Parts: sequence; C-alpha cells; structure tokens
Amino acid sequence: MTTVRTRIAPSPTGDPHVGTAYIALFNLCFARQHGGQFILRIEDTDQVRSTRESEQQIFDALRWLGIEWDEGPDVGGPYGPYRQSERSELYQRYARQLVEQGDAFYCFCTPEELDQMRAEQMARGETPRYDGRGLQLSAEEVARRLAAGEPHVIRMKVPSEGVCVVQDMLRGEVEIPWDRMDMQVLIKTDGLPTYFLANVVDDHLMGITHVLRGEEWLPSAPKLLKLYEYFGWQAPVNCYMPLLRNPDKSKLSKRKNPTSITFYQRMGYLPEAMLNYLGRMGWSMPDEREKFSLAEMIEHFDIQRVSLGGPIFDVEKLSWLNGQWLRELPLERFAAELQKWAFNPDYLMRVAGLAQSRVETFSELAPLAGMFFMGGVHPEARLFEHKKLSPEQVRQALQLILWKLEALRQWNKEGITAVIQAVAEFLGCKLRDLMPLIFPAISGQASSVSVLDAMEVLGADLSRFRLRQAIELLGGVSKKENKEWEKLLPHIGS
Ligand code: GLU
Repeated sequence: MTTVRTRIAPSPTGDPHVGTAYIALFNLCFARQHGGQFILRIEDTDQVRSTRESEQQIFDALRWLGIEWDEGPDVGGPYGPYRQSERSELYQRYARQLVEQGDAFYCFCTPEELDQMRAEQMARGETPRYDGRGLQLSAEEVARRLAAGEPHVIRMKVPSEGVCVVQDMLRGEVEIPWDRMDMQVLIKTDGLPTYFLANVVDDHLMGITHVLRGEEWLPSAPKLLKLYEYFGWQAPVNCYMPLLRNPDKSKLSKRKNPTSITFYQRMGYLPEAMLNYLGRMGWSMPDEREKFSLAEMIEHFDIQRVSLGGPIFDVEKLSWLNGQWLRELPLERFAAELQKWAFNPDYLMRVAGLAQSRVETFSELAPLAGMFFMGGVHPEARLFEHKKLSPEQVRQALQLILWKLEALRQWNKEGITAVIQAVAEFLGCKLRDLMPLIFPAISGQASSVSVLDAMEVLGADLSRFRLRQAIELLGGVSKKENKEWEKLLPHIGS
C-alpha cells in the first residue's frame, strides 16, 4: 500500500493567513491518522508578489502553532527542492512535453491583443475567454517566431463541451461544464509556470496522494484533472475544505477580522487554543467536546466529519476557548507562557531601549510603556481633535496611513515614517501635523515614548489593529468613502 502523503502549498505573498494554518492542520491530521507524511511546499512562482520574509513568517507561524512538516524547503527531504522558484526548468520540460504531445500550444498574443479580443467578445454579449487563435498558427510560423525571440506563453487545450466530473471526498461527484474553462496559461512570458502546471507537476513528483485544499479551488479543478490526464498520471484524491467565514458569513477577510496568525500571537492567544479553534472549523470530536489538543484531534480524526456549512471564524469564540485553555494551565506553565509572550529578554530589551531615558524609577514603566503589553489601547475620541484637520480629514488621514501600512513590505521605522510622510504630503500638510493622530491611536495617550519607534517594536499586526480601532472609534469609513479614498492610493508616494 502506498504511504499517504499530504501537503500544504502556501504562496508567500503576505502575512501568514489563518486559512493556511487551517488547511495545514487538516492535511497534517489526515497524514498522521494514516501514518503518512506531511509536506510543506512553497509556491512562489509569482515573482512580483512572493518574498522570502513572507515565507519565513509562514514557517514561524505554523511552527508557533505546533504544526510540523516532515519535508520542506527548510528541513529538506528526498523530493526537493521544495520551493517552486528552484524548480523552473522542470516545469519548462513538462510544458514542452505537452506541446509535443499536442495538448498545449504556444501563444504570441500581446496583452493589447487579448484586451481587444475580450472587449469584442463582451460587445457581442459573450463571456470573455481565450478564443484559441494560437492554435491556428502553423508549425513553421511558431518555429520562426520562437527563433525570433518573440514573447510568448504556453497554453493548455481544454475540451469545448461536455462536463468534467470531479471526485471530492466531501461532496462526492461534482459536475463542472468544460465551457467554463479557459485555455489556461501554463508557462507565462517570464518563463515561469502558473499555479496549474507547477501544482500538478509537483504533487505528482512529490508523491502526494491526498490533497486537502480550500473550496475556492473547486471551480478550476477540471484544468488540474485534465493535466493529469495529458501526462498519464494518476491524480491525487481531492478534498475541498469549506472556506472560513466572518460572523456575517462573508468570506474571511482582513477588513472584518484580523486574518494574520501573527496577530493572534501578538494578542496573547495560546498556540494550542488557536489550533484547537481551527480544528473546530467545520469539524468536531465524536463526543462534541470543544477543548482538545492536536494529539487528541489526530487520534479521533475522520475527514468525513467535516461539515460543509461555512465554518465561522469568530474571534469572540476563539477568546472564550483561549480563556478555557489559559485557566486550565498549571500555574507554572501559565507564567512561562506569559514570559514567552512579551516578557522574554528580546522584547524587554526593545521596550527598555525606548523607556530608559524617560523614567526615574522602574515603577514608572507600567504607565509609560503599558501599551507594549496591550492589544487594543482604547484612546478617548477627544484626543483626535485636530487644530487644522476636520474630523473627516482625520479619519481619511488615518485610513490612508492604514492602507499604506498594510502594503508596507519591510516593517521598520524608516518605512513607517516614509508612509506617514507621504500621506502628509498628499494631504498638503507635514509629518508633524499627523503625528498627534498617530500618538493616541498607537499608545492610547496623548504622548508616550517615541511612537514611530514604538510602532516598529509593536510590529505590523498590533499597529495596524490599533489604527483600525481608532478609525472605528471616530465613526469608521462609509462604503462611499472607502471607494473614493481607495482611488487616491496610487497618487500617494513612497
Ligand atoms: N498555492 C496555492 C495557495 O496558495 C495552493 C493551493 C493548493 O493547495 O493547491 O493556496
């Protein structure tokens, strides 16, 4: 019997998402339950958006939660490399094989040509899709244009009619019509593969037997299955996990809920409780108990007990469960965890560095630096009254800063300052005009230790969270404002 092998395949393009941990957890439990292996693969073929920092954050966040992998970019293994950017030649080779077999073809369309094609289709009331024009080119023409070095992509052929039957462990057979599938690009103009090709090639070469992934991938499943067929490979068993949702049932998004694992770490949730809560997403123990450890989850795991009604990620419920965990910890462990959280030497060193020049006694530390040990800081609204800016401008300034900080790649004082500076310039004022808004938002008080330094120490998650809370306190941002202000973003420098 083949060994069960599952994997999590995150794209390192942002903060480590709770959805990644949720899918990782279920893949881990499934593998362990069958005595199999669990692999971590980095899908970083999007050169523009992928970063090594984000990759490292994913490793750290998953490990913090207690999720360990048997093979991966950082631990090695017999099927490496486990980072797709290090496997590009492989994908090239497999794409060429498909072209030779007649299952894929070169396409030399420019972006303008594709735009025009889509515009014409829409004008005729058709669904925009690639019309297969690359297939009309003769072999000689293709060879000539390739030799001339013309930019090109490789696309896969897809049937134009009929249905594809997708086997899903949870839903059984799902029928998806082929006419919904586009002739998917497999190799982009930069020579790198798209998700579809790289995912299939890697899952096959890495011996993955079962793929548990988010249900957002179900609609495109036929393209993956077709690729397995073209290559003559057996597709893994598929399981499409229900998506996490906000309490209002919409898809979990950072606009409504913090979605970064590191946020929950900084807020002082216990990793075991967090993992326990993720295990409760669409799944339950046979005896319905709420509190259980990873080992208990693995022991009782049964994928068929995943229910398809969208699981709700509710921070209040998570906090309740976290409270259960904290209260039941032996006191020594509780103290040790607390120390690990924010009373560890590294963090204390950074806080001390900001506080030392401002205190006469140690006992002044708590009022001065309490904000480093808090989640929300609950400032009073009157602290945001501004000499020059109207209340609307205040909200706008905070929102613009928040958005810009959400996009900031390197979280450090220079970057943070540059963002606030750029927003100030855009609004026709100075950095020092905006600082009186940042102070209360971040520290909860009118003054504190240097707030730009404090933001660096607090980290991206807590800083953004506090800015978001300040905006809410001041009445939030209406849908209309949201739309209008978002349009301003490209005009703000930095
Ligand atoms: N890289 C994809 C993602 O980020 C992987 C999806 C899959 O599991 O196939 O979600």
